[in-house]
Amino acid sequence: MTSQTKNNIIIIGAGIVGCTLAWYLSRSYTGKIILIDKSDSANGVTQHAFAWLNVSYGRPNGYSQFRKQALSEWRSLDKLTQGKLKVNWCGAISWQANTEATHQFIESHNQTGFNIKALTQAQLQILEPNLRVLPKLAAFATDEGYVDPVYTTKTLLELAISKVLIIYRIPMYNNY
Ligand SMILES: Cc1cc2nc3c(=O)[nH]c(=O)nc-3n(C[C@H](O)[C@H](O)[C@H](O)COP(=O)(O)OP(=O)(O)OC[C@H]3O[C@@H](n4cnc5c(N)ncnc54)[C@H](O)[C@@H]3O)c2cc1C
Repeated sequence: MTSQTKNNIIIIGAGIVGCTLAWYLSRSYTGKIILIDKSDSANGVTQHAFAWLNVSYGRPNGYSQFRKQALSEWRSLDKLTQGKLKVNWCGAISWQANTEATHQFIESHNQTGFNIKALTQAQLQILEPNLRVLPKLAAFATDEGYVDPVYTTKTLLELAISKVLIIYRIPMYNNY
């Protein structure tokens, strides 16, 4: 016979990291989960994020692989939350200072297995008709996307609360 002690889990910080963790834990953890924040959810750095889910600007290579894994986790989170996070998988277009640099940017990513398409000026114009200045070559990272960081954080928190998450908002003790 085994005896199991249920430990409480305390998460400090209701930014995107804390709320995502709370959501994941709330799916299977049967003990008490306490989320503590000195103010409100998504009130820290998270509210300022572009929240671009990207690999293309992650360097060096090890970090880029880590971001690739993060992107795949976002796909899985999007599925598990059944589209409620409204992730927009629109892809991302960018270009470098000159055509050669953009070409190298595309090549180097494709070599690491992350798909980035080359767009000619004409193709770019069709995709982005409002651009006034068009480079000769652009990079299109089709697998990337973005979220509204505040909405996403608050939605994850709401979904977690519905599965018995307890939240305490406490003042911060500045002297400790
Ligand atoms: C301008 C900008 C653009 C960005 N763009 C992107 C992007 O495109 N893509 C991307 O992936 N990332 C981006 N980031 C980074 C991303 O925003 C952060 O990595 C992410 O928001 C960090 O989340 P967090 O939950 O760790 O921190 P926070 O959102 O800061 O949450 C921490 C929480 O902890 C609370 N807290 C802190 N101290 C205490 C305490 N002592 N007691 C109780 N509560 C406490 C705070 O109130 C806060 O709510 C960007 C960041 C900035 C600033």
